[in-house]
Amino acid sequence: MKNIHIAIDGPAGAGKSTIAKILADKLGIIYLDTGAMYRAVAYCAKMNGVSCDDNDALAKIFTDFNLEFSDGGRKLALNGEDISAFIRTPEIDVLVGGAASNPFVRSHLVNMQREIAKGVGVVMEGRDIGTVVLKDTPYKFYLDASVDVRANRRYLQNRERGIESDLEAIKNDIIRRDHLDSTRETDPLTKADDAIYIDSSLLTTDEAVELMLEKINGITKRLEENV
Ligand code: C5P
Repeated sequence: MKNIHIAIDGPAGAGKSTIAKILADKLGIIYLDTGAMYRAVAYCAKMNGVSCDDNDALAKIFTDFNLEFSDGGRKLALNGEDISAFIRTPEIDVLVGGAASNPFVRSHLVNMQREIAKGVGVVMEGRDIGTVVLKDTPYKFYLDASVDVRANRRYLQNRERGIESDLEAIKNDIIRRDHLDSTRETDPLTKADDAIYIDSSLLTTDEAVELMLEKINGITKRLEENV
């Protein structure tokens, strides 16, 4: 189990981060939020006045682009500066689509993500983990929920963080991002053929985690039987 690679994909607000963090803690392995990495690119491009489709300028940015996660993957520093709060703003929500649809950015981040996973156990969540980044892992999940449930979860999450938000605006942003993520040319959001589909709309976090742990154990058992 030590070097297990668990891939979790799914649309915005499906509960991937919450569930992935708990799974990683329970299994004693690391958690990697790949969405935060795309957000970091969008943030860094903005701070440097660079457009997310200017590959020459982005290549320069990538020469000095050290990302470091801490606090169990909850915090992210870029070149030593804690950017956790700056990458989760409505402005970055909009800009991140440009970074995520650029194949040059994707290939750079996919390489970084594979490097991080080398030789360690990881729960990695994003949009292309089971289809691209960790496509060879047998542990793949596609976590989904209805748009209304996902919007409501985001709204409550914001309220917990003390951020006032508008439910309808959140719902519209989720619909917009789902569309962008699933229709972009490079590595669109899609369920890997061999991923286990879980609709978390009617599940509590604990129930979803329990279900996934059961599935993980089932896969491990099957693999051991086939050795
Ligand atoms: O997961 P989160 O909502 O923070 O991700 C922000 C954006 O980053 C997504 O809307 C998506 O466009 C992009 N993303 C991606 N591939 C990943 C993770 C995130 O394209 N593996």
